Amino acid sequence: MSKSKILLLYTGGTIGMVQDINSNDLKPLDFNHLSLHIPELKKFDIIIHTHTFEPIDSSNLSPDLWIKIVKLIKERYEDYDGFVILHGTDTIAYTASALSFMLENLNKPIILTGSQLPIGVLRTDGKENIITSIQIAADKDHNNLPMVQEVAIYFEYKLYRGNRSIKYSANHFDAIQSPNYPPLAEAGIDIEYNYNALWKNITEKNLNIHTPLCHQIAVLHLFPGIDFEIIKKQFSNIDFKALILRTYGAGNAPTHKTFLDWLKSLTEKNILLLNVTQCLQGSVEQGKYETSKYLKEIGLVSAKDMTLEASITKLMYLLGTEKNTEKVKHLISHNICGEISS
Ligand code: ASP
Repeated sequence: MSKSKILLLYTGGTIGMVQDINSNDLKPLDFNHLSLHIPELKKFDIIIHTHTFEPIDSSNLSPDLWIKIVKLIKERYEDYDGFVILHGTDTIAYTASALSFMLENLNKPIILTGSQLPIGVLRTDGKENIITSIQIAADKDHNNLPMVQEVAIYFEYKLYRGNRSIKYSANHFDAIQSPNYPPLAEAGIDIEYNYNALWKNITEKNLNIHTPLCHQIAVLHLFPGIDFEIIKKQFSNIDFKALILRTYGAGNAPTHKTFLDWLKSLTEKNILLLNVTQCLQGSVEQGKYETSKYLKEIGLVSAKDMTLEASITKLMYLLGTEKNTEKVKHLISHNICGEISS
């Protein structure tokens, strides 16, 4: 059997950072730093090629990088068994979610990983994360098909569905979680795959990439005491196509008349309103309480159990590719690639 081939993409983040001697700040370093610090990579019976994007702290991420990544994956898709993307953890869940929508008919693994401590540090979590990510990207099932056929994040011994993931901790090694979906695999002595949870691509169609993305998306996080006059003014002179309302619990919001009238005026302007809960676990259920019944009547669409990251990037993708708002409204609350429970 021929050796597996993996393309390792480096985008920046802590995983490739070093401490500036003068300021003690963490600054991105070039990719050679990484290979220098993981000589174990040479022991793999896997061919690993690398590609470096200009390293950034992922807080500076822009969707242009997603476009560059999907174009590169499309170009090199047939040459590799899988792809591993090294990424800062701050926005890794946004990238994983975006890529899952932008890469249609994916049937190979795209594994994103990062670390909480830089590779150069003694107690780094980066080495294990990279090594196991490469192993997962190369793994095949008993039919010799890729074990993982979706965008996933590997972090601290667990593999998560990308568009179900969130950055959960700023300082613990298990920085990533997927509160509404079970892990796809756990790495112990062996890598134990959760076969029932894995996405299986059933189409024979070729990989199709979607690069037009709409950026005209706004998010409003509700809090007790929020001044709706201020909110109305804030949003009055801006042009946006969708508003994500971060509601309480099962999708509840204040029933203040000013607020409800304002929401109604937005739907009349054909702005799509999406109800995303502030809770990390569970689902929006519009109509369960009186405080969400009105939202349903006004025409807010329920994001059900989608993460904020998946909701934003799915809207970017849908509004970027689809002109018909009714169709976007329908698709946003229906499953495309495992991001939402039906
Ligand atoms: N600020 C870093 C980044 O997201 C943090 C990390 O890599 O974990 O790029």
